[in-house]
Amino acid sequence: MKLTVLCDNYTIIDRYLLGEPALSFYLEDNGSTILFDTGYSDVFIKNAETLGIDLSETPMIVLSHGHNDHTRGLSALAEHNLLNDKTILAHPAALWPKYIQHEDFKEDIGAPYTAESLQKLCTLQLSSEPVQISPDLWFLGQIPRHFAFENKSIASSYTLNGNTAEPDLLLDDTALVYNGSDGLTIITGCSHSGICNICRYAQQLFEHKPIVRIIGGFHLFDVDDRLHQTIDYLESLNLKELYPCHCVSLAAKIAMAKKLPIHEVGTGDIYVWE
Ligand SMILES: [Zn+2]
Ligand SMILES: [Zn+2]
Repeated sequence: MKLTVLCDNYTIIDRYLLGEPALSFYLEDNGSTILFDTGYSDVFIKNAETLGIDLSETPMIVLSHGHNDHTRGLSALAEHNLLNDKTILAHPAALWPKYIQHEDFKEDIGAPYTAESLQKLCTLQLSSEPVQISPDLWFLGQIPRHFAFENKSIASSYTLNGNTAEPDLLLDDTALVYNGSDGLTIITGCSHSGICNICRYAQQLFEHKPIVRIIGGFHLFDVDDRLHQTIDYLESLNLKELYPCHCVSLAAKIAMAKKLPIHEVGTGDIYVWE
């Protein structure tokens, strides 16, 4: 499996690709190509062009969750006529309205389309169950929330049930698993559902095969009890490699580096894993 970082907050020096606080990965597995998340703008499309990746050839887009730093690039794809003929796979709640309440205004942090409007532009596959998307890649669907220390949605973010505002529990937040020859690789967007919950669920589905590496955002910023418990759990997995990016602070990475085999990630990085 080959993973190309089409967009991350950080960019690799001397490559002259574009970065933004968002995420998009391009995956290739046994002849299948998959776009995982679409960033916040058309940055990932420009980077794909620079890297010689033809996104018109990619039949499937998988969304890790509905936040705009992972889904707003869908409108850029539509503007470039790259959305028709594609299938978009996501949890149903990924296309629910998502807002964050600031002191004096509400900010729309959801996807640029509703399920109804997206269905007019492409094929929409909504699933809260696991879905196989290539010979060795799986979409996990809804992640069971197991660890109490990870039970935290984004403060003051909410969704709408009809006209009623409800806390957004981010049930849509999911991840991919690559079932490789040496173990599982976990590929995440923001891990709002909890990186430990994601790993635990992946191992349940794959007969407790070892997890060898994780790449993606873990939504960890503060050096607090949650971070320490997360590090302890990840340490117990005996990972070969850990690639925290997008929504992991420098302070969290420094704390992780004391116990975990972390690596730098940036736009333009290409990984090939067996
Ligand atoms: Zn998010
Ligand atoms: Zn994000």
